[in-house]
Amino acid sequence: WEGTDFPWTSDLDEKLHSVFKIKELRPMQRQTMNATLAKEDCLLIMPTGGGKSLCFQLPALVDKGLTLVVSPLVSLMEDQQMALEELGISSAILNASVGKEREKYVQDDMVNPKGKLRLLYVTPEKLAKSKRFMNRLEKCYGINHLARIVIDEVHCCSQWGHDFRPDYKFLGIMKRQFPNSPIIGLTATATVSVLEDVKKILNIPKAVLFRASFNRPNLYYEVQNKPSTAKDTMDAIHRLINRRFKGQSGIIYCFSRKDSEEVASDLMSRNIKAGCYHADMDPKSRSQVHRKWLSGDIHIVVATVAFGMGIDKPDVRFVIHHSISKSMENLYQESGRAGRDGQRSDCIVFYRLADVMRQSSMVFTEQTGLGNLHGIVKYCIDVSRCRRSIIALHFGEVWDCSQCDGMCDHCDNQKNRGTCAMKEDVTHYCRDVITILDAAASTEQRVTFVKLLEALYGRGASSLKVKSVSVPTMDKNQAERILAHMLVSGYLQEDFHFTAYSTVCYILPGPKAKLLRNNIARVCLDVNAVGGAT
Ligand code: ADP
Repeated sequence: WEGTDFPWTSDLDEKLHSVFKIKELRPMQRQTMNATLAKEDCLLIMPTGGGKSLCFQLPALVDKGLTLVVSPLVSLMEDQQMALEELGISSAILNASVGKEREKYVQDDMVNPKGKLRLLYVTPEKLAKSKRFMNRLEKCYGINHLARIVIDEVHCCSQWGHDFRPDYKFLGIMKRQFPNSPIIGLTATATVSVLEDVKKILNIPKAVLFRASFNRPNLYYEVQNKPSTAKDTMDAIHRLINRRFKGQSGIIYCFSRKDSEEVASDLMSRNIKAGCYHADMDPKSRSQVHRKWLSGDIHIVVATVAFGMGIDKPDVRFVIHHSISKSMENLYQESGRAGRDGQRSDCIVFYRLADVMRQSSMVFTEQTGLGNLHGIVKYCIDVSRCRRSIIALHFGEVWDCSQCDGMCDHCDNQKNRGTCAMKEDVTHYCRDVITILDAAASTEQRVTFVKLLEALYGRGASSLKVKSVSVPTMDKNQAERILAHMLVSGYLQEDFHFTAYSTVCYILPGPKAKLLRNNIARVCLDVNAVGGAT
């Protein structure tokens, strides 16, 4: 699809320069525009900031008829509309809060053969809930022609994705209602299974897939072990900021609203200009924090995932995850807010098993919640591979690690400190863990992660009442590493129980535990050694 000899090519190039003032297209933009102008359904997967919008805004000027854009967030639509207005392109927004008069004006323009509107932005709710609007669209389809249907953040269709929105399911009828209008779905985050699901839901089985690389060469990926107390963690974050990001702009993502408040006030008490942002704050205080951050009055926003879509500050030098995200998609998306200007920026996760347990009790009710969570745990505990290779694999891309060039902690350690990954056989520890769980089960005791951990590093054999079993001695960090590995590899599994006040997570032997009981499996952990193997 990269050809430059299509009937629309000269018009497209001319408008690219004269209207958008852009010199040349970026990877995948021409292909996507050619396919959609040839009336093919297509899906474009491109990292945030890659330039997805141009792929429908420019065709909207080349083609006759109206381009319908379905987008989940009004703030995103408003940003785009403002940008289009500056370029002299006529667009409108219809959502729940638009007044009747404005709505009528827009709808009349839609069905007027001489209408001026090139792009119409709507929320999925508007489509799903307003019959009148759908009728107008159909009329427009007959009279004024509906050039194409754009579905932004198209992963929201799929329950397998990280951001499912029920109203997106409704979009399946668009292909039936408007069979001759090509659909173009845009997203920054889609795994193979999400894409397959999206194609089914939207009834576009033959959609052409365009995928721009996920690699962001200027982002440095790193995972640090999170200390076990809140104070030690804050000391570590404070040291990190002072050493590497003093006075620079950044985001710290936290697990909960409470965490974000505590982290923000801790940083402020250490004279760091920080502000807090979460969904419980009133919109005015939220936008105040956002504005102060944009203008540089504060350096760091400490936030929950509510600080998300639509954030477009070019010089974010670091994104720290104070606590693990709930999936690789989330991590990629949240980290991806760093370094939009192309300058080096760091994405650092503070990882600790206790946080995994906190997350798992939140996500286990989601269809693929635990699988997604285990995916990111694997990313955090794997010290044997380039971090980019794990990200690439997750998004179905093949990655040549030599291209990382020291831009993740693993490759940096290898390149600049001469470390190499070695294997440590921990089979006997893992077998002991299963023996402890079996012994506990035989006396009808339920075991939480905390109890199991305590048993393993020597304190809790008595509290678990499994005296007949000899408990191995390991230090706490080692015990945590082994348990995390056992969990994501299927030797252990979580078992959730609801109580009146909370959800309790117990640990059971997993589907692969019998391989340990029968002495079939060998479990090795990767460890980093300085100076190479001896
Ligand atoms: P996305 O939707 O993929 O996150 P946008 O469509 O918002 O990204 O584009 C990000 C920025 O890149 C915008 O400022 C846009 O004008 C700019 N842009 C898009 N395509 C090009 C291009 N070919 N050359 C230069 N700038 C571009």
